[in-house]
Amino acid sequence: MKTKFDIKNIIRPTIKALKPYSSARDEFQGATDDMVFLDANENPFENGVNRYPDPQQGKLKAVLSKIKGIPAKNILLGNGSDEVLDLVFRAFCEPNVDNIITLPPTYGMYNVLANINAIDIKEVLLSEDFQPQVDKILNAANAQSKILFLCSPNNPTGNSFNTSDMEALLNNFQGIVVIDEAYIDFSKQKSWIHRLEEYPNLIVTQTLSKAYGMAGIRLGICYASAEIITVLNTIKPPYNVNELTQLKAIEQLTIKDLAKNQINDILKEREVLISELKTVDFISKIYPSDANFVLAKVDDATKRYNQLIKKGIVIRNRTTQPGCENTLRFTVGTTVENKILIKALKNLQSF
Ligand SMILES: *Cc1c(COP(=O)(O)O)cnc(C)c1O
Repeated sequence: MKTKFDIKNIIRPTIKALKPYSSARDEFQGATDDMVFLDANENPFENGVNRYPDPQQGKLKAVLSKIKGIPAKNILLGNGSDEVLDLVFRAFCEPNVDNIITLPPTYGMYNVLANINAIDIKEVLLSEDFQPQVDKILNAANAQSKILFLCSPNNPTGNSFNTSDMEALLNNFQGIVVIDEAYIDFSKQKSWIHRLEEYPNLIVTQTLSKAYGMAGIRLGICYASAEIITVLNTIKPPYNVNELTQLKAIEQLTIKDLAKNQINDILKEREVLISELKTVDFISKIYPSDANFVLAKVDDATKRYNQLIKKGIVIRNRTTQPGCENTLRFTVGTTVENKILIKALKNLQSF
């Protein structure tokens, strides 16, 4: 049984001792529109973006807090979830000392960020049906294993992990468990954000890049205990989420049912795409998907990938990923885009 999780035991000594940069906007709060702001060396002429953005993104967090049912004190926002993940590395992983655990085949950024931060990577492959191998993961972990990454629904396989396996890992892994929920809004599974109080070592990441249709604004969301959020706040760049991003996110998120309707459309389209893919003779297997993409096994992934490129269709070749030999990943597009894809695949059948 593991010892009780205490963030003080896992945070890097350098970070524990850190005094954060205090911006002009941090030092003075409670601004009203009729005040005169001569504290931040901004250009005074109004153009909508001449002022520094709110470093704590209060208005946007309030909107997200309402949508997700999570208090703002449990939310941190970043320049994409990639920035959020980088903050987690820098808070908890000591370069050249600590390690992380990833479960390939999975999202490539965990390893990239580990390499950038000089953190060792322990890889424990997913099982044949792409589920975490709990005992192997716990056996691979040591005192320096600071983060375990669970991507559910997983990219590129598309499946969600078993809840009981994830509970076992949350209960027994000694470090932080990051559950990457980039695709949760397409999933039948419930989000883990509602179980933060149960698991003090849990960090859940989400993004506006997929279901919410805002990959271009770069907004990643981190949900965790207030203690973890405080640590991440200490090290985040003060103005990491720009004004245009904050405004656009609020605008889109407050359009009633926009995301919900688009998600429903994408899910319907996913089922059409799957049934069509099943009729393509060089596709031998379609993996179950809980996301807005479908992984399929083909006769020769690289050949098929190149053939589609020639027809002006770009998909993802995942053949080099462990357990994913000769697989292609298809993002679910619009009805028109999916028809173009299917037509192209059918025309390739005898070639
Ligand atoms: C797309 C994706 C992200 C998104 O990252 P952003 O930086 O927020 O765009 C995160 N995790 C996974 C698994 C993804 O597939």
